[in-house]
Amino acid sequence: MRQIALEYSKRFNDPVLKIAEADVRRFEGALYPLGKRGGWAILYNPSISSPGRINFTLGHEWGHYLCHRTAAPVGFECSQSDVLGGTRKQEQEADRFASYLLMPLDDFRAQVGSERMTLDLLRHCADRYEVSLTAAALKWLESTRLCAAVVVAENGYVVWARPSAAARRARIYFPNGMELPPGSLAADGDRLLSAEGVNLSSGIWWNRPTREVAIFADKYEMTISLLVFEELGVLPDGWEEEDVEDAFDRFNRFG
Ligand SMILES: [Zn+2]
Repeated sequence: MRQIALEYSKRFNDPVLKIAEADVRRFEGALYPLGKRGGWAILYNPSISSPGRINFTLGHEWGHYLCHRTAAPVGFECSQSDVLGGTRKQEQEADRFASYLLMPLDDFRAQVGSERMTLDLLRHCADRYEVSLTAAALKWLESTRLCAAVVVAENGYVVWARPSAAARRARIYFPNGMELPPGSLAADGDRLLSAEGVNLSSGIWWNRPTREVAIFADKYEMTISLLVFEELGVLPDGWEEEDVEDAFDRFNRFG
């Protein structure tokens, strides 16, 4: 990421001149204009212990640089919740940019194929692309036709959750602030280290049997659960096309 940002941006009048650590608690990464020198600095928080998380954060800031810098002359400061799971449009765009740059979808699908998602397979992907486990889990969610979800929780409560396309269609939903369900892997820390995950009966996460692969995040008190509802089946081929509503569809829908 460092090399791409520093080398590629040389073609612009305002290149990225510096990528450095900056010990500011409130952000995970930032993009700042360098006033006098007419370029930009990408900064990241040195307290992040995972190299994959730093790399993904740099990709996110690089996305802001390419896509948003002309509209935001003061730059960006991105908190941990902005960098993955952000709700603002520009934050989501920067995430999507980093995700596609670091984890090309065709290569990602070649890695995972039709294999069952386990913690080991997810680690393999995170290592291959030098991203965090969370970033790899969200990529898998985007690429899978299975009914699945990623749930991030802190201190026993859901911070944010994201469904796969099939899960969205099945109306599977975990609201922010929801208490982790008793009996789930995430709620019961002792069982977290199972690579295959555990099969949970219907009624714990959802009214369907669920395979839960829970991951300890590197941040204290945080859990990331990858939930798979295998019984609910998969989306048919060509689902991507039908799932995305473009401006034309919206226009027709609203007349
Ligand atoms: Zn951001």
